[in-house]
Amino acid sequence: MLLLKRKVDLLHWLDKQRAEKRSIGFVPTMGALHAGHISLIDISKKSTEITVCSIFVNPTQFNDPRDFQKYPITIEDDILLLEQAEADVLYLPEVSDIYPDGTKSLETYDLGRLESLLEGAFRPGHFQGVCQVMRRLLDAVRPDQLFMGQKDYQQCMVVHRLLEIMGLPTRLVPCPIVREKDGLAMSSRNRRLSEDQRRTATAIYQALTGIKDGWQKARPAKELIAGATSLLESKGFRVDYVSIADPLTLEPLPETGSGETTRAPAVALIAAFLGEIRLIDNMTL
Ligand code: AMP
Repeated sequence: MLLLKRKVDLLHWLDKQRAEKRSIGFVPTMGALHAGHISLIDISKKSTEITVCSIFVNPTQFNDPRDFQKYPITIEDDILLLEQAEADVLYLPEVSDIYPDGTKSLETYDLGRLESLLEGAFRPGHFQGVCQVMRRLLDAVRPDQLFMGQKDYQQCMVVHRLLEIMGLPTRLVPCPIVREKDGLAMSSRNRRLSEDQRRTATAIYQALTGIKDGWQKARPAKELIAGATSLLESKGFRVDYVSIADPLTLEPLPETGSGETTRAPAVALIAAFLGEIRLIDNMTL
């Protein structure tokens, strides 16, 4: 695997690949890699000839400075995992390579309602930061296909919007959530959980499966949301949101009353803190 730290070297290498008509897949990450990230590399390798992975902990997307300071960094292990997965290139830039003019006065993006719903509401500025870094990474890599996890459901929607804004032909491929045996969605932040918190964390998955079960039995959304919230609170979570939403807009689904047998497509999304660690997960219903 080639390790490149400078955008100019990446551009140069990718130009050669494009001249040879090789298709390029891209998997952007913030490192502290786990099987969820590696699943994206595997999917990319199956559908493109070259797989580029990036590791960059983007300072502009952290609305909480402590979360940024404490973000896990495990670069040596990451490189080993990427070599085993047979990624072709790792782009590992410094902040100055991504933001040569600093991070003080950056551009903003019109993300419409996505910025005021769910993650948008609870993490002000987060998606602007995601777009700022993704624009720069996409400019550098110009991939044919971009592989991102459905674990970050709303982020996929934001990046889809960014591709439209940028007018790029890149195809966004949302990839399934990889879970631990007990259902907890894999996440770099899980490394920060204590043993006790790790055991408790699976309640998010239980809450989601509870909602899915109730949804299939045509129980009202309001009741399912209240049940999931009280399950999480009883385990010591501080809940940011539990939502049952339209999968295309993320607007909360209107109450339609119980007794229906078929229901509109929906997605349940949860964000909750365990101690100071914020976990998110979702499930299509
Ligand atoms: P991150 O390093 O957290 O920024 O994640 C990098 C990419 O990996 C994003 O597209 C995430 O959605 C994806 N990802 C993170 N966790 C998982 C998971 N458990 N399953 C599938 N994809 C994931």
